[in-house]
Amino acid sequence: MNIDLDTGKLVVFLGGLLFFLGVETLAPKRPWRESRFKRLLFHGGIAALNTVLIRLVIYVPLLLWVVFVEQQGWGISRWLGLTGWVELAASLVVLDLFDYFWHRANHRVTFLWRFHKAHHADTAMDVTTALRFHPGELMISALAKALWIAIWGPTAIAWFLFEAMVSLCAQFHHSNIDFPDHIEGGISALIVTPRFHASHHAVDRHYGDANFSTIFSLWDRLLRSYQRPESGDAITNTEYGLGLPEARDRAFSPGAWLVEPFQSNNLNVNNKKQTQPSEMS
Ligand SMILES: [Zn+2]
Repeated sequence: MNIDLDTGKLVVFLGGLLFFLGVETLAPKRPWRESRFKRLLFHGGIAALNTVLIRLVIYVPLLLWVVFVEQQGWGISRWLGLTGWVELAASLVVLDLFDYFWHRANHRVTFLWRFHKAHHADTAMDVTTALRFHPGELMISALAKALWIAIWGPTAIAWFLFEAMVSLCAQFHHSNIDFPDHIEGGISALIVTPRFHASHHAVDRHYGDANFSTIFSLWDRLLRSYQRPESGDAITNTEYGLGLPEARDRAFSPGAWLVEPFQSNNLNVNNKKQTQPSEMS
C-alpha cells in the first residue's frame, strides 16, 4: 500500500511538472528574460540533491512516524473518530492550516528566514521555482511536520494525499501563467493561484509580506495577511518585480546558494527590513 502511494506521489510530481512546463511554454504570463534551460538545470539539480537527502534523512522516518502515531491512536483526528473521506478532507484542511503558520513563521523568524530566503532569491517565477528549496529548510520543516502529525494524527493515506496536493499546488501557483480576471477571481476564492502567489514573491514588500497560503487561499483572508494582486500590476507583469534584489547576482550560483544560510552576514542589517518583514500584523 505504501509503495503504491509512494509511486502515486511520484507520478503526480512528474506529471504536474511536465504539464505546467507545457502550459508555460504555450501561454507564458511574463516574458522569459533568462534561459529556461538554465533554470530547469539549476532547480532540477536542487531537486535531485533534495530527493537523495530527504529519502535518507526525512522521508522514511517521517512515514514510520505517521504509522506509529496512527497505531498509538494519537491526535485530534483519532479522538474525534474521523474516518474515510471525512478524515481525508479534514486532514487536508487542517494540515494546510499548519502549513500556513509554518510558512509565515519562515518569514518572521530570523533563523528560519535564512533558509527560506534561498527560495525567494529566485529572479523569476515558473514551475521550476517550486523545486527551489534549501535542504536545510526541508530538514527543519520535517521536524515541524512530525509535530503536526502527532497533534492531528492523519492516516498514512491522508498524509500522502496532503503531500501530493502540496507538491501539485506549489507547481501550479509558481507557474508563469495567468487567467482572465473573472476566472482568476473564481479559482483564487478557493485555492492559491499563480497571480496570488506572485504577490508573495514580489519585491514590493506591500505585497511580499502577504499571501502565505499553500493550497487553500482562505487562510490569508481569515488571518488578515491577504493582499489582492491586480492583473495589470507591474509585479505580475515583469520578471524584475520578483525575487530579492540583494540576492540577484548569485541566485544561480550553487556554492553561494548552498552556503549562504550559514554565513553570519546572511541577514545584512541594511537589508533586513526589506528581506525579513516583521512589521505586519
Ligand atoms: Zn515564502
